[in-house]
Amino acid sequence: MKKLIIANWKDNPATAKEAEELFYFYYDAYSELRDKIDLVVCPPAVYIQELAAISKSMPLGAQDVSWESSVGPHTGEITADVLKNLGVEYVLVGHSERRYGIGESDEVISKKLKAALSAGLTPVLIVGERNNQDDRKKIIEEQLAIDLDALDPESVSKIILAYEPVWAISTSQDGHPDTPQNAFDALGEIKNFVFETYRVRPDAYRSVYGGSITEGNVAAFLGHDEINGALIGGASLRKEEFSSILKIVSELK
Ligand code: PEP
Repeated sequence: MKKLIIANWKDNPATAKEAEELFYFYYDAYSELRDKIDLVVCPPAVYIQELAAISKSMPLGAQDVSWESSVGPHTGEITADVLKNLGVEYVLVGHSERRYGIGESDEVISKKLKAALSAGLTPVLIVGERNNQDDRKKIIEEQLAIDLDALDPESVSKIILAYEPVWAISTSQDGHPDTPQNAFDALGEIKNFVFETYRVRPDAYRSVYGGSITEGNVAAFLGHDEINGALIGGASLRKEEFSSILKIVSELK
């Protein structure tokens, strides 16, 4: 299975011109590596249309989706069908900046997953504990139990599962990376829950780690066979470093 890199640009950059430049840069870097790795870029929604026109062959992801199942009177929302029609293939759901920054509940996340799946988007469901001292397994299982509630096994197998501890995000207070062993263990807990609840085997879907990935540590995380990829925020805005990350990952055995 090819390793998957998901670039979460968050609310960056400030102009469409800069977004285009960054995208072109990664498009070039990725064009030589596409046989070896998968890359999904998640820009701010306002840039998606323009970036989709530049590249049909570098997959785009959205950072959010409406829980509404079809277009209509939903002021400010962007539904999965609209994203799909723009050429979007993936969508982040459950990012901690939405869970805790905006107050998005697991019930809302669950509805968003269902809306994304029924439009044919691939959701990247992000779970993880807030503080390093928290009971990780308990929190992850509570999140998954509600987020995946009432989905059938086939739908669950279409979701990319991301473990991203909030304290490990580079912009969190004292944000620092988890250890590869902890990330591996946490992903193991996620996979066990999914198997025990849905009988979906770990090789049926991809699972990735996110939190302060850099060119210095990416090989240590993705060197684990069971860590299928990385969700990358800050470093995905640093052109040279991100290109180097892509290269490093493409050379992993
Ligand atoms: C993120 O917030 O999804 C993320 C992975 O951020 P960073 O890489 O900056 O820690």
